Amino acid sequence: MSMIPRSATSRIVCLTKTGENWQKLYADAITDPQELLKLLALPDSLLPAAREVADQFGLRIPRSYLTRIKSGDPDNPLLRQYLPIGDELHDNKDYKTDPVGDMNAMPVEGLLHKYKSRVLLIVSGACAVHCRYCFRRHFPYGDTALSQEKIAQAIDYIKNDITLKEVILSGGDPLSLSDEKLELLVQELSQINHLKRLRIHTRVPIVIPERITDKLIKILSQSCLEIVMVVHINHPDEIDETLAPALEKLKSHNIALLNQSVLLKDINDDIETLIELSEKLFSHGITPYYLHMLDKVSGAGHFEVEEKTALALYDQLCKQLSGYLVPKLVREEKGKPYKVSLSSKLL
Ligand SMILES: *Cc1c(COP(=O)(O)O)cnc(C)c1O
Ligand code: SF4
Repeated sequence: MSMIPRSATSRIVCLTKTGENWQKLYADAITDPQELLKLLALPDSLLPAAREVADQFGLRIPRSYLTRIKSGDPDNPLLRQYLPIGDELHDNKDYKTDPVGDMNAMPVEGLLHKYKSRVLLIVSGACAVHCRYCFRRHFPYGDTALSQEKIAQAIDYIKNDITLKEVILSGGDPLSLSDEKLELLVQELSQINHLKRLRIHTRVPIVIPERITDKLIKILSQSCLEIVMVVHINHPDEIDETLAPALEKLKSHNIALLNQSVLLKDINDDIETLIELSEKLFSHGITPYYLHMLDKVSGAGHFEVEEKTALALYDQLCKQLSGYLVPKLVREEKGKPYKVSLSSKLL
């Protein structure tokens, strides 16, 4: 199949400083709890627990992201997503290391085929930030990228299954990969006739907007596949003016932008925050897609929002927002053929 360039809009795009240096920003992330506490003027008393917990699942937060976090407040909703705290050590027996059954859905290493017509490819185990509630925190793939050999096996699997219409690049975070590696992968996938779409699930551009390089835009817009990017924003304060130009660039190249959030206790489990999040997403060109119930992964129990509370919030969202601003409230359940919507329980 020939590579048909997707139509670029004729609008003049205001290019920001391009991301020549995104890899430097990525590598220069804060990983030492002591440094984080110092930079944000937080009490030293948080240090022993932060250290102990970070030994199991490391702290990681890009330096420039700190400008979005108010100093001196240990309860700041952005900080809480990334700061290791002692609560992570108090395990609950309902919380598992593989809560959604991913380890059983891999026909080829790195490839998850749980739902029809689409597969999810874990191209990189690395992330630009470490979210404390992440259900992949116990996965064995560490920070490594999938080897060329494994990618070739996954591509063979995709080629051989003509029922597949969409490939989802996920991880970790696929935009942890260099543009060169992504280019090869996108080109290979673009040559598979039965594929229509390429979806990228990523948080990197949210925490490092410089990741949206001109080269990346070129790679994506040259593919004949329709491109969907699902970003991950949990709180309206994560959207600041540094993010807007990157999102604008993606939009102006016909890349569909969707958002998924996780409903997290004391971070976004109140109606004002959720409304502001939806409003702000949309005004930046992003459509709210999913609001996930927390996966029951061990170490994350303190983030849980009870189903009753979640449903009450969802009901309020439906009452107060235009339909397209309401994300689907879903939970991932082992063995189910799709992410299960909770809205039927509202009746
Ligand atoms: C979430 C997920 C998908 C995508 O599901 P959508 O409902 O289409 O967003 C695909 N594969 C796996 C393994 C997933 O976990
Ligand atoms: S996979 Fe997503 S949620 Fe998990 S640590 Fe990486 S960016 Fe955060």
